[in-house]
Amino acid sequence: MVYPQPKERCPCPHPLAGPIIWEGTFNIDILNERFRLRNTTIGLTVFAIKKYVAFLELFLKTAEKHFMVGHRVTYYVFTDRLGDVPRVPLGEGRQVVVLEVRNYSRWQDVSMHRMEMISNFSRQRFLRKVDYLVCADVDMSFRDHVGVEILSPLFSTLHPGFYGAAREAFTYERRPQSQAHVPRDEGNFYYVGDFFRGSVAEVLRLMSACHQATVVDRAHGIEAVRHDESHLNRYLLDHKPTKVLSPEYLWDEQLLGWPAVVKKLRYVTVPKSHRVIRD
Ligand code: UDP
Ligand code: MN
Repeated sequence: MVYPQPKERCPCPHPLAGPIIWEGTFNIDILNERFRLRNTTIGLTVFAIKKYVAFLELFLKTAEKHFMVGHRVTYYVFTDRLGDVPRVPLGEGRQVVVLEVRNYSRWQDVSMHRMEMISNFSRQRFLRKVDYLVCADVDMSFRDHVGVEILSPLFSTLHPGFYGAAREAFTYERRPQSQAHVPRDEGNFYYVGDFFRGSVAEVLRLMSACHQATVVDRAHGIEAVRHDESHLNRYLLDHKPTKVLSPEYLWDEQLLGWPAVVKKLRYVTVPKSHRVIRD
């Protein structure tokens, strides 16, 4: 089906995606009340494998300040270095659960196997314990409010580097041999792989589909250009997200500065040396 590319500034529900969440498009007091009444529990999964444990302290401390304040939160920390997980003081109704997982030697494999590891754990735990799952990169910090306005059955975040770009420029996987492949005249938005979420059931469906797709790709000797992010983008083309988060919810100030269109920088990249941290 051929249709024009949607615009990112439209806060209204879009036929090709849910409403796009920017500062000013929601009333947080009403939403807080609604989610409090339901006693909503949010699970935040984060991987800190090998040297990436060094990012955990800032991640958790800033999440305590800005992430779902006043709500029930369980941080699921997946790590191979149990002894290095920092103790961070937590607010009421909030806890850290540390889960031991194996590591992989290539960082691409760590990144891609996240979905598999989360699915394996989630069948046993998440379904009973939390209502929503948020999956985040650890090399990030929270700098401003990220609250229940993001919660919805299936939601994802616009990639800050492709905001306003034409769909032809998106770094979708283009090789038809890959399960993640998107033709040049398709695609609504380019989503970032570092921050996505939804109800537990929807996230599980997404992860098992993306994991299956990477298994098929591997059998065919192909690896998608942006790894798990490529598969996420393919999935979200076939399964319309019920909410889309503006790049306020994932920004890289070092790379992109702070343009006027972004009123709040909520969740931001922590500068890292790829060479030092990935080897
Ligand atoms: N990761 C990890 N250990 C590694 C490589 C990756 O824990 O050795 C996890 C970590 O949560 C990280 C995510 O995988 O935030 C994605 O990798 P990275 O942040 O390096 O990718 P980028 O955001 O630079 O594309
Ligand atoms: Mn990252």
